[in-house]
Amino acid sequence: MLIQDGRIEQIAAHGSLLVGDQHLTDLGDTVLLPGLVDTHVHVNEPGRTEWEGFATATRAAAAGGVTTVIDMPLNSVPPTTTVEGLDAKRKTAEGQAWVDLGFWGGAIPGNTGDLEPLHTAGVFGFKSFLAPSGVDEFPHVEQADLESALAEQARIGALAIIHAEDPAVLAAAPQQPGVHYRDFLASRPDDAETAAVARLLDTARRTGARVHILHVSSAAVLPLLRQAREDGVRVTAETCPHYLTLAAEEVPDGDTAFKCCPPIRDESNRDALWAALAAGEFIAVVSDHSPSTPDLKLLKEYGGSGDFAAAWGGIASLQLGLPAIWTEARRRGHTLSDVVRWMSSGPASLVGLTGTKGSIAVGNDADLVAFDPDGEFAVQAAALHHRNPVTPYAGRTLTGAVRTTWLRGRVVDVDGEPTGRQITRS
Ligand SMILES: [Zn+2]
Repeated sequence: MLIQDGRIEQIAAHGSLLVGDQHLTDLGDTVLLPGLVDTHVHVNEPGRTEWEGFATATRAAAAGGVTTVIDMPLNSVPPTTTVEGLDAKRKTAEGQAWVDLGFWGGAIPGNTGDLEPLHTAGVFGFKSFLAPSGVDEFPHVEQADLESALAEQARIGALAIIHAEDPAVLAAAPQQPGVHYRDFLASRPDDAETAAVARLLDTARRTGARVHILHVSSAAVLPLLRQAREDGVRVTAETCPHYLTLAAEEVPDGDTAFKCCPPIRDESNRDALWAALAAGEFIAVVSDHSPSTPDLKLLKEYGGSGDFAAAWGGIASLQLGLPAIWTEARRRGHTLSDVVRWMSSGPASLVGLTGTKGSIAVGNDADLVAFDPDGEFAVQAAALHHRNPVTPYAGRTLTGAVRTTWLRGRVVDVDGEPTGRQITRS
């Protein structure tokens, strides 16, 4: 492969000679992958930089083989619901990012008039919550707000990305605080997802909007998605490493590192998500990296109560998504090509970046990862580049190690030496 000016210039057969190369890199036995595209990351800066920030998030991304990060419109302050909010993010991110960055906007009650200016300013689409988001400055949309937001997005040609849990179903579910994971799981039932998805699909059908369901946790929504597609609704969906690799049965009491919304469900649900993934029903597997400080997680080792109901809901995994998925994918008979489709080319196509990101192709950005598919390592939360040392993967042994990451042809300065020899010819 010949890289010039940050782009892939030529791809040649093994052993053939490329003209014009001055600098050869031998990757040894590693596998070269296109850099991952993670379209679901909560960077939280400005405003909640103690939770995460552009410098820490993008450094973790680079170390994890993720070369493009699309940032969610919350939990930063201000949220990305106005052009001013977007400008604040861009200004703050300047000079801090180790990988390429993009931004989602937010559609909240009362900001329908902000969507077109944000769209023009370059956001990739608009996130809305159908149930409370967890932060006051990003309220969820009621049905009337959703109608107007989707109608406007259909008009301007924007992609609506939706957190689909239904607030009425959540309110009616048993609420039992405490350290038992099964009580938390009962408080966020499958029905909350299916009711919200059904309502969303109905609204999408009527408004003509293109919609994307974020972080599908319950396999019970899959038949609804299939039916909607058959009916011609423009709908895609994603799921996340934690729903595919963790299971409710193994969550220790009080270990709120595992808390996220919607929740990690049981093993049979996890198998059903894998079957759907294998069948091409998810366009992307993305992290939904949504960390907070250990005290807000109420973690017991930090003196917290371990109460699942009160702890911050969000999982930190940006640096670990690739090995977490590869570990489980390989066990289930999938290949690295499948993983690349789920975590690189799929998410790139979701956000319209196929011409520059998501594959090793002539003309694309030379965003590359030298990956050792057999490299094993034990996850130490404190050794990750995430700002806070909290992740449910702590202590797990994962297979698959990122050796070198390139962003537009440059080796990104991550920890760990490259395994390949670098030979400079001049
Ligand atoms: Zn999220």
